[in-house]
Amino acid sequence: MIEILPIGGMNEVGRNMTAIGFDGEYIVVDMGIRLDSIIGFDDVDIGRMSRAELINLQAIPDDTDFRGNKVKAILLSHGHLDHIGAVGKLATSYNAPIYGTPYTIRILKKLLREEHFPTPSQHLIRAVLPKATLRFDNVRVEFIPVTHSILHTVAIAIHHENETVLVASDFKLDEHPLLGPLTDTEGLCRLRKDNNCLIALVGSVRADEPGTTPSEAEVRDMLKKVMEESADSGGLLYISTFSSHMARLKSIVDLSYELGRTPVMVGRSLKNYCSAATELGLVEFPRELEIYGRPNTAKKVMKRIENRRQDYVIICTGHQGEPTSVLTRIADGKLPPRVRKGDHVIFSSSVIPSPINQANRAELEAKLEVQGAEIHRDVHASGHARREDIKKFLKMVAPDVVVPCHGTPEKLHAMATIAAELGYTKNTIHLLKNGTAIHVGG
Ligand SMILES: [Zn+2]
Repeated sequence: MIEILPIGGMNEVGRNMTAIGFDGEYIVVDMGIRLDSIIGFDDVDIGRMSRAELINLQAIPDDTDFRGNKVKAILLSHGHLDHIGAVGKLATSYNAPIYGTPYTIRILKKLLREEHFPTPSQHLIRAVLPKATLRFDNVRVEFIPVTHSILHTVAIAIHHENETVLVASDFKLDEHPLLGPLTDTEGLCRLRKDNNCLIALVGSVRADEPGTTPSEAEVRDMLKKVMEESADSGGLLYISTFSSHMARLKSIVDLSYELGRTPVMVGRSLKNYCSAATELGLVEFPRELEIYGRPNTAKKVMKRIENRRQDYVIICTGHQGEPTSVLTRIADGKLPPRVRKGDHVIFSSSVIPSPINQANRAELEAKLEVQGAEIHRDVHASGHARREDIKKFLKMVAPDVVVPCHGTPEKLHAMATIAAELGYTKNTIHLLKNGTAIHVGG
């Protein structure tokens, strides 16, 4: 008998945390934050906020009732904050080893260094390669590579006797991801063969969108077209995307050189994620690429760009209109260069739909447009599977039981509808709530 206890991530996007129980002992998958719960507070410093404050704000999973249970291990599926951002606040309660792929662990360690509270001991944090198998007494765990918008993402299969739980929260089925391996379909198909009972938790973030999610190769083509057309004006090109999205950043850097322009990256998070990926040999940027973590150190080069705007592409933070981002500071005139007519701003991202993000982005765009810049939006594809991809995934994995996870109520229902179309019934589709467990299997 397996117990599945969602602690966060059900009926919401963010703060993912799930406990999988065997005979009263648990494996925990992910400990994330929910950014839209705290983004409305000015100058919020998550590192300085207490666990209780953050639980009250619903910014991190509420594990109050779960604490005290024996946890064999904490497993992290990938390095996005909605999957690892609460480790510093919650993991110390469990004294359990923390496992993730090397890129995930590298990012986690950087994050923990920035926090001001006691964090898990370094010796408890361990990096294992994608495709690794781990053993915790009678439980075996597999890290199965999947494509997503950050490198080294895995689906996690937890085996106990003849029963398996697959946690596949964030993934897409990208056949041309440009960087990193394809989704390990063989590894996923093998789960079916080896089991009497297979339970799959499947991420629902884009389950309500029709069709398939475009590949990174398609986004590169879209970017190439927009960048070429924009460069014709002879103005400066500003591009902003997710700082952790190495495949996208690599496309932007390569395309800049193809246009005969010099890319310059500016922003703390860009520097953090890029240096973690290059240190691990996961991405190769040209040696001459300039990356500035602190905008002040970039002032000199930004002044140089001011008078040679036709020669540069500035890759910077600010795609959600964040008030302290580099792009917002440029738009406010706090950082050179000045925005002028003929400049183009390309958002290689979508706006994460929360009222604050939407308001911030609208304000930033208005400031840029008033100064003469032309805006290009949504030159982007999501890292999450859409409806047809999810169907393909469910047919491939063929679980006995489907548990929609990571999504608002509408999205969880959209996933349940897809499963129902494939023949699953109310006995084999489980819509769960945070804090409420189900028991499955023999
Ligand atoms: Zn993710």
